[in-house]
Amino acid sequence: MLQSVWFKLFFSFVAVTFIPLLLYYSTILASIREYYRKEIEDRTLATANMMSGSVSKANYLSDQSKDKIFENEVDLKSRESSSRIIVLDNRCVVLKDSNLTAVGKIYLVPEAIDALRNNNKVSTHEAERAVYAAAAILNGDSEKIGVVLVVASNESAYEIMPALERRILLVTVITACALIALAFFLSRVLLDPMREILRAVKKMSEGHLDQRVVIKGGGEYAEMGQAFNEMAGKLEKVEITRSEFVSNVSHELKTPLSSIKVLTESILLQENVRPETYEEFMLDINSEINRMTNIINDLLSLVKMDRRENALNIKNFELNKLTAEVMRRLAPLAARKKTELVYEEVCGGIMLDGDEMKLSLAISNLIENGIKYTPENGKVKVILDADHQNAFITVSDTGIGIEEEHQNKIFERFYRVDKTRDRETGGTGLGLAITHTAVLLHHGSIKVHSKPKEGAVFVVRLPLRWGGKTS
Ligand code: ADP
Repeated sequence: MLQSVWFKLFFSFVAVTFIPLLLYYSTILASIREYYRKEIEDRTLATANMMSGSVSKANYLSDQSKDKIFENEVDLKSRESSSRIIVLDNRCVVLKDSNLTAVGKIYLVPEAIDALRNNNKVSTHEAERAVYAAAAILNGDSEKIGVVLVVASNESAYEIMPALERRILLVTVITACALIALAFFLSRVLLDPMREILRAVKKMSEGHLDQRVVIKGGGEYAEMGQAFNEMAGKLEKVEITRSEFVSNVSHELKTPLSSIKVLTESILLQENVRPETYEEFMLDINSEINRMTNIINDLLSLVKMDRRENALNIKNFELNKLTAEVMRRLAPLAARKKTELVYEEVCGGIMLDGDEMKLSLAISNLIENGIKYTPENGKVKVILDADHQNAFITVSDTGIGIEEEHQNKIFERFYRVDKTRDRETGGTGLGLAITHTAVLLHHGSIKVHSKPKEGAVFVVRLPLRWGGKTS
């Protein structure tokens, strides 16, 4: 569970949304507290300033006759502002107190001292839950002759905070729950397509190769789904090709085996068989065995090339020499069919990196086909050419040719244009497949141009330098 991508995604969503939420929760509370504190402090200092202004203006401290008015004003302002107002002289002796309790006493409050010495001052006393604001009283010469000290309670801030805190906490918890639900939903929605692909992969690993996923929309998942479908398609094709190949091999081997069985049984069932008949039957059996041997040899060549890890033995060799050698070996076959075998070197001394054995087999198959599929007195021509990157081997004949519809199928294993006739020519149906595989292993290409009854031209391109891996 902890390892699952879903959990990791879900957890990341929650983490990413929770951190800002907690920050928001803690900063909003601190900001509200700060706002209230500042608000009460400003209000209290404004009262102190106003009061000190009117005391300075009315000259209450020097003019004893206004003592009563002074007292009334202190009392009125105190009630108006719901705060205690204390008036001190410049030695911090209390002259007036709206509470009346401190009159005549020395009141050494830091704010008052600060206002007398420096500037008007306001501060919050958390322990008393009170705000102290002090503003200096000036005489006509702008000398500080006293201080108005306003003490206001900030109890209301303390009363309002818990309720506010509860409310914000509730909103935060609801938001957190909504975020968790959203994260849960989002992580599921995001991973749903992946689950679908995973389900298909599991099914495929159980052997159900027809699995495909439904591609919705675009993006990485669609790409992944498309890649999966393509891979599944290829795998299914490989499986079909494999089973077709096995059935083809069985079929190809069954034909000569059936002939051998018929031949042997007919000899066994006959009485007094003449030695000449024996010899005749044995020759037929021998030719069927040769046919089977050819098929098996061709199959082995193909299988060796299929095992790509050690498929090639790359060496630098002269292609002209190799082609000339192949032609020399096939000359008797051509002579038997009275076929003219022509060799033309447009470019001499072509040095090529490749597997001599496999390329010799590939070229040999093409020339052999040319001879096989060209009626007597025909011509097979081999042309060797090269540019600075590739070598080109062209094998053309004046034979029966290949119809367009068969041209891209003749490189498939066991594909024959005319099943019965081509079998009679002694072919296995594997020659061009071997050539094709060998050329592809060398990163080359093979093309065929042909028209029925006009002969066929096979062009092989092989890169001169080996760019791929040899192992
Ligand atoms: P095979 O052993 O039957 O010759 P290949 O794989 O060599 O098998 O060739 C496949 C088929 O392609 C042949 O059966 C034949 O029908 C056709 N083919 C190949 N080469 C030629 C050619 N030069 N001219 C006409 N048909 C050809």
